[in-house]
Amino acid sequence: MSAPPATYSELRRALDSGNRSSAELTEDCLARIRRRDSEWNAFLTVDDTSARAAAAAADARRADARPLGPLDGVPVAVKDNLVTAGLRTTCASRYLADYVPPRDATVVARLRAAGAVILGKANLDEFAMGSSNEHSAFGAVRNPHDPSRVPGGSSGGSCAAVAGALAPLAIGSDTGGSVRLPASFCGVVGVKPTYGRVSRSGLVAFGSSLDQPGPVARDVAGAAALLAVMSGHDPDDATSSLAPVPDWTADLSGDVGSMKIGVVRDLLGDGVDDEVRTAVERAIDALRAAGARIVDVELPHARFGVAAYYVLSSAEASANLSRFDGVRYGARAADVSDLETLYERSRSEGFGAEVKRRILIGTFALSAGYYDAYYARAQKARRLIRADYGAAFVDADVLLSPVAPTPAFRLGERAEDPLAMYLTDAMTIPASLAGVPALSVPVGISSGRLPIGAHLTAPAFAEGRLFRAAAALERAFGPAPWPASVAEEAA
Ligand code: GLN
Repeated sequence: MSAPPATYSELRRALDSGNRSSAELTEDCLARIRRRDSEWNAFLTVDDTSARAAAAAADARRADARPLGPLDGVPVAVKDNLVTAGLRTTCASRYLADYVPPRDATVVARLRAAGAVILGKANLDEFAMGSSNEHSAFGAVRNPHDPSRVPGGSSGGSCAAVAGALAPLAIGSDTGGSVRLPASFCGVVGVKPTYGRVSRSGLVAFGSSLDQPGPVARDVAGAAALLAVMSGHDPDDATSSLAPVPDWTADLSGDVGSMKIGVVRDLLGDGVDDEVRTAVERAIDALRAAGARIVDVELPHARFGVAAYYVLSSAEASANLSRFDGVRYGARAADVSDLETLYERSRSEGFGAEVKRRILIGTFALSAGYYDAYYARAQKARRLIRADYGAAFVDADVLLSPVAPTPAFRLGERAEDPLAMYLTDAMTIPASLAGVPALSVPVGISSGRLPIGAHLTAPAFAEGRLFRAAAALERAFGPAPWPASVAEEAA
């Protein structure tokens, strides 16, 4: 088997020069999935037949000299909370174990129209609720860099697939950090776009005021190319923006000479692992050496982020998940004679423990008498956090912090402690609450060979700044090394 292209950019060159066909790249991915994924569990469904057909069609277009654009013929994995026509979509829940949607999510339709090859559906925490990918009804995902460790969640399957060379690109979704955290743990680039940049139509809703599909790649260019295809207004999502979609790939020079980088000092203090702090400080030095001005900024209300997020996202989840009633979608309890029992039994049997916990928190927070104390206060905290970003972006063009306080932790380590799990997201949640774009880019590797990411945040609709600063970091540190087992195989 040939070595996997190291990055999207390398893959593009191989395709464009005729060195590799889409069919070859696709067969390589399918073969690696067969050989490696029984260990990692990154995929829930592999769509060999359609993938092969899409690859053959892409090669035919190329032979005719009419490829459709930057993603034509490129294999992509899709998180299994984005619906796919005729292809099982489970949300990693028993509830939807056999659910086959009638249509494609808008982002999936855009991928197909761009000629991308959809390999299959990536594992996740059930309904995207989690930070470790241990809350999947179909088994945890393992981190290709160290299979005793989590890949991060909830887009753990998407990020493990890219990190383990099972797919060059993937789509995840991010509500409070679900693309950025696993990207950091797996050593890949992951983006949460501005809220409204990407259509949510066909993304199974978790927290509708926060959810955004986002791209995952081994390099910044891959993430930029994928996001460009995903973005843009969609009449099927009234919250999707009319803002024009720039060509981000045209500006990956990494020139940060005119940029002011705001370092969020509070997020580099106590509780941050020494190796993470050192890696982020080296990222600051690299940006300074590339000509950027470094300033300190504060986000004084960011510390209320986790509390506000778990009230708001759970409140929205409790409403969104009420559609799973045993009547319209998915599992239905057997041998029930009245409607009330049908609801109760279907939901009790179908949902896992973490999903039930979120529904309970959310329903409680919204209940009469508690609404003002929880939901309304959390909304106020959200407004203050948003104002913090407004102030920080007066002084800085892009903010820099760690993605998470530690590198990937061991499977089981936080599984029994929901609060410890929730705190994993403390550094990614504030940008989600503010609706601003943010990404994770690899900037180092720990002494235990675990990737470490830096978190960049920009004002709404300024994803271009993120890509430019991330490209500068990528030039300084390179893409993360392949996991040892992938490097050995490729050698
Ligand atoms: N880990 C966070 C949660 O469990 C974020 C999940 C996400 O972004 N989908 O809610």
